[in-house]
Amino acid sequence: MEAPKIIKLNEEVINRIAAGEVIQRPANALKELIENSLDPKATNIQLMVKNGGLKLLQIQDNGTGIRKEDFEIVCERFTTSKLREFEDLHKISTYGFRGEALASISHIAHLTITSKTKHDICAYQASFVDSKLQGTPKPVAGNQGTIITVEDLFYNMTVRKKALRSPAEEYQKISEVVSKYAIHNSTVGFALKKSGDNNDIRTPPESNAVENIRIIYGNTIARELIEFSLESTPFKFKVHGYMTNVNYSTKKLQFLLFINHRLVDCQSLKKCVDHVYSTYLPKNMHPFVYLSLELDPGDIDINVHPTKHEVHFFKRRTDYRKYHNCSRDKIVGFKQFKSILHTS
Ligand code: ADP
Ligand code: MG
Repeated sequence: MEAPKIIKLNEEVINRIAAGEVIQRPANALKELIENSLDPKATNIQLMVKNGGLKLLQIQDNGTGIRKEDFEIVCERFTTSKLREFEDLHKISTYGFRGEALASISHIAHLTITSKTKHDICAYQASFVDSKLQGTPKPVAGNQGTIITVEDLFYNMTVRKKALRSPAEEYQKISEVVSKYAIHNSTVGFALKKSGDNNDIRTPPESNAVENIRIIYGNTIARELIEFSLESTPFKFKVHGYMTNVNYSTKKLQFLLFINHRLVDCQSLKKCVDHVYSTYLPKNMHPFVYLSLELDPGDIDINVHPTKHEVHFFKRRTDYRKYHNCSRDKIVGFKQFKSILHTS
């Protein structure tokens, strides 16, 4: 066989592939959009979803808004108001930092932005295709803040669209993301609505985590919660959270984990938690656990994957093991945790 010729893919194909890495399903797009609303300090976030997010994902916030003159580049790749220098990555306190979300969305959906800052007398609206602003932003009526409308997600990625689950399942994933963010950001009011239906999730602003757990997951869980709080100065970490006592159990473990306020997954921690409970709960039954972990940003790498779903630890292996043992003892386990379960 002859060696095949190497060619460079055209720009459009490259951008679409890259965008598909960041946005794998409607819930990922929504997570990016929620984070974009939390960064500019919104206190109210309203979401509207049609057809599992494939037909429509809309988010409205009351944050700072986007300046009219920034519309020109807001959807370009690597344009951000949050990061200036590479070194800043170590102390980044915003969710976003590399300006990829809006660019990605504009390559695989129809994107419209409406926004008003406190200095504008009206809002401005524009649509974007493949990162580029279409025409000039037009003045429209609107309140301070931003509305991002994402329509026909994956319209130009038929294979991806086919690989997705049913709209009902995609909606379920969206609703999980919203629930978790609403619990972790309980001072922000969240509302999630499926088109045509009433609000599916509604939490008031200035609420608290337990109240939001009650609103979203129900009183059966909320009334059995134990507050959990630990701090270690040498290891520079803090843990705070709520977990159910032994009166409550469910078939599927519910584990809400935030590390430095990012919603992440951690299989080992999940297993650890479940293991501790296994001695106390009926066979094959599991708890509800919400943990918020704060670590020195210098100790973790958030820049691992475009979805930012995974967090890596920077420290050398030995340090990591020390940390892990310490966290296992402190966070999930064993002595302290057991005594909490016993005394409640
Ligand atoms: P990043 O969040 O990494 O900066 P994004 O592509 O998600 O990148 O957003 C690009 C920029 O658009 C942000 O840095 C921010 O300045 C602006 N932006 C996006 N969404 C909002 C919003 N809801 N309110 C205010 N500004 C926003
Ligand atoms: Mg962002």
